[in-house]
Amino acid sequence: MNYHKFDVVIVGAGGAGLMSAMQLSHNSSIAVVSKLYPMRSHTGAAQGGVAAALGNTEEDHWQWHMFDTVKGGDYLVDQDAAAILAQEAVDAIYDLEHWGMPFNRTSDGRIDQRRFGGHTRNFGEGPVRRSCYVADRTGHMILQTMYQQSLKNQVRFFNEFMMLDLIMSDGQAAGIVALNMLDGELHVFHAKTVVLATGGYGRAWRVTSNALACTGDGMAVAYRRGIPLEDMEMYQFHPTGLYKVGILFTEAARGEGGYLLNKDGERFCLRYAPTLQELAPRDMVSRFIYQEIAEGRGIDGKDYVYLSVAHLGKKLIDEKLPEVIDFARNYLGVDPYYEPVPIQPTAHYTMGGIPTDIEGRVVKDENNTVIPGLYAAGEVACVSVHGSNRLGTNSLVDLIVFGRRAGKHIASKWLPEADFAPLPADAEERAREQVETLLSRTGNEGQDAIRQELRDMMMDKVSVVRDERGLTEARQQLVSLKERYSRVRLMDHSRTFNTELMEVIELGNLLDCSEAAIAGALARKESRGAHYRTDYEKRDDANFLKHTLAYQTERTGEPELRYKPVVITEFQPKERKY
Ligand SMILES: Cc1cc2nc3c(=O)[nH]c(=O)nc-3n(C[C@H](O)[C@H](O)[C@H](O)COP(=O)(O)OP(=O)(O)OC[C@H]3O[C@@H](n4cnc5c(N)ncnc54)[C@H](O)[C@@H]3O)c2cc1C
Repeated sequence: MNYHKFDVVIVGAGGAGLMSAMQLSHNSSIAVVSKLYPMRSHTGAAQGGVAAALGNTEEDHWQWHMFDTVKGGDYLVDQDAAAILAQEAVDAIYDLEHWGMPFNRTSDGRIDQRRFGGHTRNFGEGPVRRSCYVADRTGHMILQTMYQQSLKNQVRFFNEFMMLDLIMSDGQAAGIVALNMLDGELHVFHAKTVVLATGGYGRAWRVTSNALACTGDGMAVAYRRGIPLEDMEMYQFHPTGLYKVGILFTEAARGEGGYLLNKDGERFCLRYAPTLQELAPRDMVSRFIYQEIAEGRGIDGKDYVYLSVAHLGKKLIDEKLPEVIDFARNYLGVDPYYEPVPIQPTAHYTMGGIPTDIEGRVVKDENNTVIPGLYAAGEVACVSVHGSNRLGTNSLVDLIVFGRRAGKHIASKWLPEADFAPLPADAEERAREQVETLLSRTGNEGQDAIRQELRDMMMDKVSVVRDERGLTEARQQLVSLKERYSRVRLMDHSRTFNTELMEVIELGNLLDCSEAAIAGALARKESRGAHYRTDYEKRDDANFLKHTLAYQTERTGEPELRYKPVVITEFQPKERKY
């Protein structure tokens, strides 16, 4: 057995994983295990910015940020967590600045800020400049900054190691099992602490902004170990993906003054959201687009509308949106200097995930019972600051605030007391069986067809608009896809960098995440945030102002659903108007 022993094993080298590592590197042994080279983590694709009420260009307050977060999430947000998010964002941004993050600057040298959807002044009066940014490559710069600092601080990286299983010992986390992609060997990482920071599962949809690696591995591994997944039905569609390809055209384009047009050249958002217009929250703008298309006002009667930035002028576009205009040129052959860009909603962000408390500790039930030694942060986790709809630039801030809190809690509270839980004798057994079965199975079920069907099904039945019929069909289809998956066969049986093996394991993870999402969506007979049901169009606080917890059971497609209350401190649920 390949055996390693560390105080802390962090799984994932995106913004959340690296931020936790930064808190720990001085006085404990830590490993970061990542299936990708760290700089390829999806955080690097983040474009628009990271929210914090610095008030550098106009008046702003953390209470306003908190309010916007709660309202944006359609009141499914835990307000104790939202208060922390908004307050600690400010310090976390300054940490990044001091580590060398090259933020865009105001003329007097402070961090510049811009507008983003749903972020307002004075509790909803109008848009506010809250998003700190580095052109349209903010996430890339976050990774650069923290990766170099981590290397300087002697963090041990195990790159291209894929976690297959979480090791539990008597109710405590005891480490992980990972596959070394290079030679196909399994490695056991024995640890006092495991931090899951493995990101989201946007690859379950056909049109998606997410990178290939966003397959919900951490969520699926935890789910199979009896840990519930929270609010998985809350999945965000970003309004402006490039038509058909799904690649993101940042919301910063609208923050800087870009607008959306239907086939009549009308700025339709003005009709739906008179105050915030194109800067209404994403769930709403995605629905506006859906509505325009459904009523025949898509461009040429097709399923897309236009995003126009040409009127902003080349200078501003070059300064603030250099990357995305190249995406439009390269992937659609459209030049945003002169022409509007065809866009459609694209699968983007997992609001749900592994439930944690405000210290980043994973909890296993509706009483918030903590699992000792197990933490989660970033998109994999649900703390829950996004409720049923995340505001733009509120994810990067979630990573740095709660990645930082998890790291600090481990360093100051957990490690001083903790010991290594004994490693079970069969620690790597499950993972070994998973790999050997896949490598040795014969049969004729290929993975590509299953993946394609899953992605079409999620796109058609579990996206911007849902109903009982579609979701019921989705559940049946999922059961049959899982059955086929249990017979899937590989063409490549080698152990050396077997990407087919990696992809098939990822597909299994997508199936598990989708199962939890569909079940949660079927049971939630209301419309709230990103979860919009045409058969229950109203939000129903009396019955559904609560978080879903989905536990895997023996019955495929039918997780056990339990519920836990939403933490409400200051802001009572109101109707959302923008
Ligand atoms: C195109 C795009 C643009 C975005 N723009 C913004 C923005 O401007 N502002 C904003 O706030 N948010 C934005 N978001 C959202 C935000 O970028 C993500 O939610 C966030 O970066 C996720 O960070 P993370 O650290 O949780 O995970 P990731 O950055 O996704 O990293 C996951 C890590 O886990 C590792 N990993 C995964 N599975 C395994 C496994 N099985 N074994 C080992 N390692 C594993 C990966 O190697 C990777 O290092 C954007 C998202 C996308 C897709």
